[in-house]
Amino acid sequence: MCRKAFDAWQNPDYSALARDTDMFAFDLDGTLARSKQPMKTGIAGIFAALTYVCPVAIVSGGRLSLLHSQIVDVVDDVMNRENLHLMPTTGTRYYRWDGNGWECVFEKNIPEEDAKKAVESLNRRAAQLGLLQGETWGERIENRGSQITFSALGQNAPADIKEAWDPDASKRNALAAAVARDLPNLTVKSGGSTSVDISCKGIDKSYAICRLTQIFNIRPSRILYVGDRTDENGNDYPAVQAGTTAMHVRGPEDAVELIKGVMRAKTGGYVFDALERSVELNGRDSHCDSAQFDAFVSSLPELIAKH
Ligand SMILES: [Mg+2]
Repeated sequence: MCRKAFDAWQNPDYSALARDTDMFAFDLDGTLARSKQPMKTGIAGIFAALTYVCPVAIVSGGRLSLLHSQIVDVVDDVMNRENLHLMPTTGTRYYRWDGNGWECVFEKNIPEEDAKKAVESLNRRAAQLGLLQGETWGERIENRGSQITFSALGQNAPADIKEAWDPDASKRNALAAAVARDLPNLTVKSGGSTSVDISCKGIDKSYAICRLTQIFNIRPSRILYVGDRTDENGNDYPAVQAGTTAMHVRGPEDAVELIKGVMRAKTGGYVFDALERSVELNGRDSHCDSAQFDAFVSSLPELIAKH
């Protein structure tokens, strides 16, 4: 099956898109925000507004702490938390707002027996390759549940020392190759400047999409997936392959336009910004005060039901 993502800036049929979309799922880095950076003001208010219009999921390879610093912390007070769904570490974990905090609904961890073998292999192979010498900063092996990470100089080594340790990636590639031979049940990858990452096999963004369709009991085509790497070599491509309605964006600026287009179509012409507390109707500022803004947000379910 060869699927392709649509280009968001190529004037899609927003009415059809709005009609056929039950929820949005976004990639994070390069889509909602620059790599590891918090979401910027221009997109943050519109993104927060979208959480009042339909359910929104974030599907990222990053850890939960990054989803918080890049997204949740930026719009925490102004979004509809009940409609935000967090899927860090490529959907191996799922968090939703339970009224008091972010509840972990499920986590897919490496089975204990496999995790033991992974730690044993990392220690043995790293010793054989002479990678356990010298000073370390913190633990070398961290079991994050869904991922085991080996950091040759420890978790907390200074960045400049880490970068100088294996500039051509030959040490970590050699370790990853040796460990991969020991662990046929797991995926072993050479990671950041000093690290090797081990995870369950078959975990990519199609896994996350599959979990979303189960959680929401919807067909994948009802999910509008938005990512910057939807090409065949990109990490968003598995989400395209999973059967979502996928949109390619070049960055947050495209993502904002796409969200506005769908929001307009779902609300009969309204676009609003939950940070600025402003409302536009058909491109015109409708000059509402704070009370009117709250009244507008309360009227949304009715407005959406009509369109
Ligand atoms: Mg990306």
